[in-house]
Amino acid sequence: MRYLFGPVPSRRLGYSLGVDIIPHKVCTLDCVYCQLGPTTLKTIERRAYVEPGPVLAELDEILAQKLQIDCITFSGSGEPTLNTCLGDILAGIQSRCSLPVTVLTNGTLLHMPEVRAGLLQADIVCPSFDAATLQAFTMINRPHPGVSLDLMIAGLKKFRQEFSGKIYLEVMLARRINDSPQELEAFAKVLPEFGADRIQINTVIRPAAADGVWASSPATLELARTLFGPNAEIIGGFVKERSFHEQENIGDRIVQLVGRHPSTAEDVCAALGLNADLAHEFLNQLLSQGRIFKTMHGGSTFYKA
Ligand code: SF4
Repeated sequence: MRYLFGPVPSRRLGYSLGVDIIPHKVCTLDCVYCQLGPTTLKTIERRAYVEPGPVLAELDEILAQKLQIDCITFSGSGEPTLNTCLGDILAGIQSRCSLPVTVLTNGTLLHMPEVRAGLLQADIVCPSFDAATLQAFTMINRPHPGVSLDLMIAGLKKFRQEFSGKIYLEVMLARRINDSPQELEAFAKVLPEFGADRIQINTVIRPAAADGVWASSPATLELARTLFGPNAEIIGGFVKERSFHEQENIGDRIVQLVGRHPSTAEDVCAALGLNADLAHEFLNQLLSQGRIFKTMHGGSTFYKA
């Protein structure tokens, strides 16, 4: 599979079949917390990076396998709204299955009518909003010079007026970058204007693109939850039982998984339905082959490709 991956357990969305329609790592931002590493092409130019045909052919193949899938999620190697075919791909998916389709986006291009029009075909859109002040925006998101915080805010408001599906807005907090009391107050002023169905407060639990980026304290997250209003929630780790599916090419699937999401051994077990012994056997084999490597973050061991 080139454009689809998983299904993988998502902390927000359940068992999610991933759709990746952007080359690694093309994005309008270069967030310090990005788990995919530094942005290699920071751009605001939209292009047909992947046409609908090859993506939908892979979807047909996956659906025929009848795996446990709770939803389809556009995420992966970069910012999906940079692909001009996003709307057509969404339409193709909706015509093939009734699974809810979610798009994770950094929200920077929502001021463009054509981006909003494409996204109208999703069921859930999860935009990020990591800073309410220019200083914090610059520090945490390291945007392309053509990205404007004011335009982003205007785009989020406009999208809410046009989109009848669910909007789950994610706020990623990082210690001493965007989580001071002043920054949280600034968030609290603007967040109600977005009309999000949920405000999901996240923090840095996986290895980040930049050094020195750490999780906000539980007390800070709790303060944010209080300030951000009744729709705000702190996202916890996602664990879900699933039945064991006979997997072919388990090693390849592990490399694919940890290449997209740095994962602990427990994440690998949950994503691929493996018991701990088998997962460790494969992980050790891949380590010795040099196909993956280990890194420590927040006291946990993560595997990356
Ligand atoms: S976290 Fe998302 S928006 Fe930020 S650089 Fe990574 S891919 Fe882009």
